[in-house]
Amino acid sequence: MYTVTIDRDKCEGCGECVENCPASILEMADGKAQVSGDLEDCLGCETCVSVCTTGAVTLTEG
Ligand code: SF4
Ligand code: SF4
Repeated sequence: MYTVTIDRDKCEGCGECVENCPASILEMADGKAQVSGDLEDCLGCETCVSVCTTGAVTLTEG
């Protein structure tokens, strides 16, 4: 089980994490990214972390 945290203060709303998440569990809301789906579906692929240029996304396992 992975936990994805998106810091809304750091998010600049580019949408890259949402568009590139293979599990489609991220969404845009009020111009910021957030987790919308079930974190149990997260693959832990770290794509959301690597595409984010502002360091807003944190992925932890456990
Ligand atoms: S780690 Fe991968 S599957 Fe999980 S939220 Fe990020 S992009 Fe989606
Ligand atoms: S990639 Fe980063 S800056 Fe872009 S929407 Fe996702 S969290 Fe926000």
